[in-house]
Amino acid sequence: MLNPKISIVIPAYNEEEILQKTIDKMENLLKKLVEKGVLSDESYLLFVNDGSADATWDIIKDANKKNSAIKGIKFSRNFGNQSAILAGYLSAKKIGCDAVITIDADLQQDVNKIEDFVNAYKEGYDVVCGVRNSYTKKFSLKSVTSSMFYKCMNFLNVPLKPNHSEYRLLSKKALDILDEYKEINIFIRGLVYSLGLKTKYINYDISKRELGKSKFNFYSLSKMALNGMVSFSTRPLDIVFLIGAVISFLSLVFAILFIIGNIFDVKLITNDIGPFRIWQIFVAGLQIFCIGVVGEYIGQILREVKGRPRYIIDEEII
Ligand code: UDP
Ligand code: MG
Repeated sequence: MLNPKISIVIPAYNEEEILQKTIDKMENLLKKLVEKGVLSDESYLLFVNDGSADATWDIIKDANKKNSAIKGIKFSRNFGNQSAILAGYLSAKKIGCDAVITIDADLQQDVNKIEDFVNAYKEGYDVVCGVRNSYTKKFSLKSVTSSMFYKCMNFLNVPLKPNHSEYRLLSKKALDILDEYKEINIFIRGLVYSLGLKTKYINYDISKRELGKSKFNFYSLSKMALNGMVSFSTRPLDIVFLIGAVISFLSLVFAILFIIGNIFDVKLITNDIGPFRIWQIFVAGLQIFCIGVVGEYIGQILREVKGRPRYIIDEEII
């Protein structure tokens, strides 16, 4: 097999602090792997600027002037990490490549595994997934929520490999199939499994983010703005979901207070809230919660039916 032409896709959202370092590191790695005969010298880096408000795009453009193997596409606004990765995949397909590797702009993933990814591709694997060994901080909010997420997905019969995020290689064949999936609410990690292609898992160590901040936080999910009309946003449905969850939780707190109060014969809550009241509040909360769940699906259907573009490319240097 000839040395493959690999496209390395790197989504970047407000990454000005770390981007130059990442470019230098990846440029060197690319050069080393070409010299070693792992990659073809036509391999390239493809940055996807996901609507950054900082100098991210200028850094990419400057890098391209010095080295044409550094390419970039710029979204008109922030579309989120999944859209950035999808755009990277589809643009790489357009530019041409034998396989694509995705990695985060902060290079928290171990870049040395790229060689192993390519070797696995040469062995005939169409999908190579990087699997994170563990977080450096075992009991951080992120590690706990992440493990809960994978448990929930498995409970829902979605066969996700725990600790695999977006560090992976997809062959041209996998890209062509992925291009057939036209859904708006794209969850690439799940789609990759549904392809059913020959897959290999490679473990890697995750390191700390050296510069800049994580672009994902707990609150970004709950920042619900009611400014958009229902036709423009399905967020009100999320709020309904949250209200139901909060009411159910409150009823649980009342129940615990009631039980403790009875055991130790102390008055923790007023007599008005007896077991039946608690049950009523719980059921009311549960009902709203269930409507919220159904609402989530309706929201997804609404977005799919509208069929709006999954992302808008404002500028490309490819
Ligand atoms: N990212 C993106 N769009 C977003 C959020 C993040 O393209 O809306 C990119 C980000 O620049 C990085 C990758 O997705 O390259 C992963 O983000 P981050 O490192 O902040 O996530 P974490 O490692 O904390 O999960
Ligand atoms: Mg990161």
